[in-house]
Amino acid sequence: MSQLACRRVLLKLSGEALMGDEDYGIDPKIIGRLADEVIEARAAGAEIALVIGGGNIFRGAGLAAGGMDRVTGDQMGMLATVINALAMQDALEKRGGRARVMSAIKINDVCEDYIRRRAIRHLEKGRITIFAAGVGAPFFTTDSGAALRAIEIGADLLLKATKVDGVYDKDPKKHSDAVRFDSLTYDDVISRDLQVMDTAAFALARDSDLPLRIFDMSQPGVLLRILRGENIGTLVRGRG
Ligand code: UDP
Repeated sequence: MSQLACRRVLLKLSGEALMGDEDYGIDPKIIGRLADEVIEARAAGAEIALVIGGGNIFRGAGLAAGGMDRVTGDQMGMLATVINALAMQDALEKRGGRARVMSAIKINDVCEDYIRRRAIRHLEKGRITIFAAGVGAPFFTTDSGAALRAIEIGADLLLKATKVDGVYDKDPKKHSDAVRFDSLTYDDVISRDLQVMDTAAFALARDSDLPLRIFDMSQPGVLLRILRGENIGTLVRGRG
């Protein structure tokens, strides 16, 4: 729709964003609020894809630190992202949204396999499309899955929701004089050694000139405001 600055976006949520005040799992109130935000943005005309992490359930690196085989741990992490994706699909559908989960690992009794052309078709038809299981391989994260899928579907923007309201020159929790950037180039991020996404995900975004916006999703209505062109959080792109 004409008043939107972005037509097709991919929103990356961490698994931890679903936990609320708990230290594990999914808080129905929190996932409901996130689903409301997504539905509001969809109703305004945006085509929305989602990637949700699995850190509220399992991360391979954490399991490996406890003695588990890393590849098995990563497979458990990928399955955790499928669980989160199914929960989000349910929350969206309960609110009248149309949603599809597509997984990078074959688990098609519970969701569709990821097929790029089919994913684009879902988006064109207005279905909120949730990409689960990251890139489908161990030793990657869902940040990489988000960057990869955003590029594959031709997203205008990759939105990364975090607990912090953008990218700062130093940790704002430790330094009261930390300064938030409104925008950065990919080269700024590298030269200042800023933490935006994991290295593989960032390299993918930079090589494909995919703009990223890092923002705090806790304020109601923020997703739609960004889609309408408000400069919220920090934009990272090829030119400042
Ligand atoms: N994972 C993986 N390959 C992928 C994506 C995810 O092996 O392409 C595994 C990995 O163990 C990861 C876990 O799934 O730690 C959960 O994803 P992530 O850590 O990205 O979740 P988030 O931190 O966003 O909640």
